[in-house]
Amino acid sequence: MKLFTVGPVNPYQETNQVYKNLFPYFRTEDYGILVQNNLKSLATLLGIEYKNNIIYLTASGTAAMEASIENCFTCQDKLLIINGGSFGHRFCDICAWHNIPFDSVDLPYNEMLTENHLKPYETKSYTALLVNLHETSTGQLYDIKLLSEFCQRKNMLLVVDAISTFLADPYNMTMNHIDLTIFSSQKGLSLSPGLSFVAISKRMLERIYNMPSASTMYFNFKDYLKNIERGQTPYTPAIGIMYELEQILILIKQVGLDNWLNKIKDKCFYFRNRANELGLTIPNSYPLSNMLTPIMFKDVDAYDIFTELKNKYSIFVNPCGGELATRMFRVSHIGNTRIEDFDDLAIKIKKTYEELKGMSHD
Ligand SMILES: *Cc1c(COP(=O)(O)O)cnc(C)c1O
Repeated sequence: MKLFTVGPVNPYQETNQVYKNLFPYFRTEDYGILVQNNLKSLATLLGIEYKNNIIYLTASGTAAMEASIENCFTCQDKLLIINGGSFGHRFCDICAWHNIPFDSVDLPYNEMLTENHLKPYETKSYTALLVNLHETSTGQLYDIKLLSEFCQRKNMLLVVDAISTFLADPYNMTMNHIDLTIFSSQKGLSLSPGLSFVAISKRMLERIYNMPSASTMYFNFKDYLKNIERGQTPYTPAIGIMYELEQILILIKQVGLDNWLNKIKDKCFYFRNRANELGLTIPNSYPLSNMLTPIMFKDVDAYDIFTELKNKYSIFVNPCGGELATRMFRVSHIGNTRIEDFDDLAIKIKKTYEELKGMSHD
């Protein structure tokens, strides 16, 4: 079986091996030190200094999105959301659910986000901008400089869901004045699903401390921030994934962050070249993250190709949801895959496409 999905992805041998041993009890100084060392390494990868300013939740990425909104904003605030796909839409849904006022910059799936889209909001007042920097549903990677400068000009906080761009594309919180970054275990880190992380700037930390208590108890950040000073969490975490994290961070350190990103870029560019050579269609109206490549189909249902690849070869590409489901699927370049895998995949996609097209013409 081979996963070319956006997450969970093909795991690395090193992280799987942790399950050979029993995990020790976690309310100990040793476990606290393991956590703190992991968070320090993550801080380095995020381009920040570690000062008890990263917390982790035993929950998927969406929980971290919702918890961040719940802990950082109230109905007194107004947010601006980049809504260019299903993850941008999820931010809108969360704010609507919690009665937090927002405007959304609504982008059709094939449109590139530019300065023009932000112009109508230049004169309006907002507490923060929320963005899924890589909108995983379409593959669009937004221009962080454009968004960061907009926020600085307007003295807004910048909240980034970096779940599908962190450790796939270059990402730096300090350089881009990012106040809060959300990421999770099953994407760039290539670990089991179940942990999500929130890295917080100094001014956002101050804001959180001064907020009235969040309406959620399990996800109350003040508790997590207090506990993380000892490397602990208020409630029992997914300990196994913390041990997986230790292993992947060792691996990333050995390889080096630039090389890590370049390896993904190489797989990505190789696949896009092969896909082009084979006459497959990659959208070109917006910039793509190196994390994935979307492929469009006209005369065959994209979901049927996904199903064939799964049933015939045990290969999983990532189907799209909603209106794109029949027209597009995505191929992810993160996780434990090699260049050769992408050669094989491109050929099998082409072959399956031809077969299904032949059948639909009979
Ligand atoms: C995967 C992903 C999420 C989180 O999804 P979960 O299923 O809750 O883990 C959130 N935002 C983006 C951009 C993602 O790619």
